[in-house]
Amino acid sequence: MMKLDIQMFAVPFHRVSKTRKRMRRSHNAIELPGTTKCPSCGETIKPHRVCPKCGTYKGKKVLSNESE
Ligand SMILES: [Zn+2]
Repeated sequence: MMKLDIQMFAVPFHRVSKTRKRMRRSHNAIELPGTTKCPSCGETIKPHRVCPKCGTYKGKKVLSNESE
């Protein structure tokens, strides 16, 4: 006897329309990771972190021996 290797899985009752499919996928876009601009040099940086370019945090100089 032939051994059937069939896996049972959920079968959709109805075909999903183009509109329904597109509405569902409207939430699937990949979001950009959180970034902000440095207030002193304008560089795009990660929020709540010292700016790696100019070494400032909240407009104050935090790191001294940074390349300027
Ligand atoms: Zn900066």
